[in-house]
Formats: sequence, C-alpha cells, structure tokens
Amino acid sequence: MNQIKKFSEEFFRNLKCGVVWDRDVLIVKNVPRSFEDLSGKTAPYRLSFVFGEDDSIFVGKGSPMLVAMMKFLEGAGKTTLLKIDFEVNPEVEIRKRINFKNCEIGELEKSYRNNFFSRFSFVTSFGYLNECERVVSEVYVHDGKVVEGDLDGYRVVEGARLTVDGDSVKKDYGIAKERAVELTTKKQREIGDILKGRVDAEVARIRGHYDRQLGEVGGDLNGRLERMKRLELELRSAGDGERGGLRERLDRMRAGLVKAGEDEVRGRILREMETTIQDVRQKFSLNVSRKLVNTTVIYYPVYLFQLCVKGGDVKSCIEVSYDPLTKSFDGLNCEGCGAEIVNLSLCAGGHVTCGECLDVCGECGKRFCVKCLGRSCESCGRKVCADCAVLCLGCERYFCGAHVRSDCVSGEDRCVLCLRACLRCHGMAEEKFFGEARDGSKVCLKCVGEEKRGKVMERVFRQ
Ligand SMILES: [Zn+2]
Ligand SMILES: [Zn+2]
Ligand SMILES: [Zn+2]
Ligand SMILES: [Zn+2]
Ligand SMILES: [Zn+2]
Ligand SMILES: [Zn+2]
Repeated sequence: MNQIKKFSEEFFRNLKCGVVWDRDVLIVKNVPRSFEDLSGKTAPYRLSFVFGEDDSIFVGKGSPMLVAMMKFLEGAGKTTLLKIDFEVNPEVEIRKRINFKNCEIGELEKSYRNNFFSRFSFVTSFGYLNECERVVSEVYVHDGKVVEGDLDGYRVVEGARLTVDGDSVKKDYGIAKERAVELTTKKQREIGDILKGRVDAEVARIRGHYDRQLGEVGGDLNGRLERMKRLELELRSAGDGERGGLRERLDRMRAGLVKAGEDEVRGRILREMETTIQDVRQKFSLNVSRKLVNTTVIYYPVYLFQLCVKGGDVKSCIEVSYDPLTKSFDGLNCEGCGAEIVNLSLCAGGHVTCGECLDVCGECGKRFCVKCLGRSCESCGRKVCADCAVLCLGCERYFCGAHVRSDCVSGEDRCVLCLRACLRCHGMAEEKFFGEARDGSKVCLKCVGEEKRGKVMERVFRQ
C-alpha cells in the first residue's frame, strides 16, 4: 500500500500538479487536461488509499485511478476522441452581435459541420544522477498551426462515433512535436549547465589526484627515497583517517621502485585517469527521452445559420457561420460595401447591409445599397434604382423618369437627349420624325400630317 501511495504522489508531482497531504488523503490540483480526460475525472482530486472513504477516490490495485496513471505513463491512452458540446441558440448569438434596424428576424435555422483540432501530450524525461524528472507538455494544433489551447469551461463529451482523419492528425503531430521540443529546450539547457559545472569540477579534482601520482613517479631515485622516508614519518604520526591513503601511496612508490621502467607506470596512471574521467562523464550525463502519451482529437461543431430577415414587403436570407470556439461569425458582411454588419438594414432591393452605405433612389425615394443604385440618369445624374431606371431604346442609355418622354409621333419612350421639341405642338419627337411645314419651319411629322389633312378639309369645305 505504501508503494502505491508513494507512486501516486510521485506521479502527480512529476506532472507538476499541486500535491498536498490531508492526513491520509492526497489532494491533487492543477492536473493536466490530458490526464483528466484519460481518467474521466476532473481535478481537484481527493485520493484515498483506503477503500470506502467518503468524498474521495480510492487508489489501490486495479482501481480505475491507478490504471489511468499506468496508462498515462505507458502512453496506452493513444488517440482519444472528444467532442465539445455547445449549447448554441442562434437567435441569442445573432442578437448579441447585431441590431436590427428596419427589419426583424423572420426564420432562423441551425445546422452544423464538424471542425476539429488535435491535442498532443508529451512527457519528456530528464534522467541524470539516478534521478528522473518529467515534464508534461500539451500542445494544441488547429489548422496546421500551434494554438494556445484551453478547454477549461467547455463541456466535453466522448465522441467515440466519429472517425479520425489519420492524415491530418499525422501532419499535426509533426508540428506538435517540434513545439514540444521547443518547450523543453530551456529545461534541458538548465540541467545540462548544472551537470556540466559538476563534471568540470569533478574532472579537475581527478586530474589533480593523478597529477600528484605522476609527480611521485617522476624524479631521481634519491629524491624518491627521500619522499618515501618523509611519507613513512608522516604515516607514523598520521591519524586513523589519513593512514589508509598514505599507506597506499607508500606501497605504490615501493612498487614503482621495484617495478620496471617509469614509463610503464606513467602509462598505467594515465590510462587509469582516462577511465575514471570517462566514468564521471557517464555518471553525470543527461538522458532525454520524449514520449507521446496521448493524442486527442477534439471535435466541435461550427454552426451554419440560415438567417431570414423581413422588413415591410422585402425579405432576404443569408447563410452565416458561427464558430463557438472563437465566438466569431463569418458571412455577416454587408452585401453592398462588404463592411462588417453591426446595424443590420435591409436595402429595398433585398440585400442585407450595414446601413451606412444605403442611399436614396432619386425617383422612388426608397433606400438602396450601392449594388442596387448602380445606375444614374445620363441627363441629370441622379441615382436611380433598377425599377426606376428607364432604358432609352434610341441611345441605349439609362435615365430617370423625369428625363424620359413619350415620342409624340411614334408613341415610344425616348430620353430627352434623343428627342427634339416641336415648336408647333410643343410635343417631342426623334429627329427623324421631323419634316418641313408649308411655311418652311421644321415641325414634327404629326404636325405635318395635320397640316396636310387641314388642306384637304379646306378643299372639301370649299366645294
Ligand atoms: Zn454597406
Ligand atoms: Zn426607384
Ligand atoms: Zn441592394
Ligand atoms: Zn434625370
Ligand atoms: Zn435616348
Ligand atoms: Zn408637332
């Protein structure tokens, strides 16, 4: 039991959680989301190592909590599918954003498509000097980019029925791994620096030790004998602690005297030093390993709202998408000028607009967006809506109602620029419908005809 207790405490400490003992209950806070999702339990935890305690989670052989810890370490939690559940009321969301000016919401329908991002949990282990320090990094990737992820406050449900798009997850993994390496390089450098300092000190100590030995080997025979004599004296007066070392040195010197050449001894000492240094380097080396312990694909719905607005006898429907994660709308732009809509106004032509770009039709006085008021009268320049613009079939240009007249000869509508005034009847007609009156003046063919008829009548009456 004690072992499980110790393991649990270590486990959560390694995950950088807040760990506190309350008598025999282990209180754990700030648990990484990936572990919460894997265990299915939201922190803080009260962990009890005795079965049947109230208000606490039992941790013991075979208990789900212990299994979750093991799984997390083994990376058995592989790919988890989660779905974020949103309760979105389209009308509320739209009203939060939009003021309706000259119209109201008619119908509003909601549908959705799934969007997803991935979360990768890495455990990086730093092994050195019989210690193992672990760092958990959780990296969120959305749309091929690392994003600051935080699922706090979202209701997450199992999304087991969804299938994972393996390729995009694989792509995301590469990105996440790079990020995980970045996140731990600082730590790696810190530990590395500390270790290097200690190795350097240790190596210096070893070199000093062997240098002394080499010094003892060198020198002439008399010098050596002299030194041995001194050592013997020292040994006699030495305390218990030093005696062993001194005796060893003395033995070595004696051996050196009897043994063959100095070069051989020197070589042996140098080899021994190299091995010792290598051992130290080995002992202080840092082993970094990184393991992906969990991949979670998190789905969430992006809503499509079919929004229909009504104002007077004008009605218009647009499709707006709403991302509940970023709380952003897409498609709520003015159909006239493209600006983002805050105050929604319907143009008389049925476009959903920002209201700012609306203008009045010079003819009917209704308010239209720039798209609908694309025409202006060639004669007076007033903007006119599609309904009010009149096409002159003579010159094929558009005019306002005030600058179009009925040709008094043909009866067809023509613009004033295509017509000419008849000074006799004050009507207007196209140039080609003018002829010469009896007095030589140019009059419209109607007047010409009347004049002719008048002559005929005159003759009739004269008879
Ligand atoms: Zn606009
Ligand atoms: Zn008009
Ligand atoms: Zn319009
Ligand atoms: Zn006009
Ligand atoms: Zn014309
Ligand atoms: Zn006339």
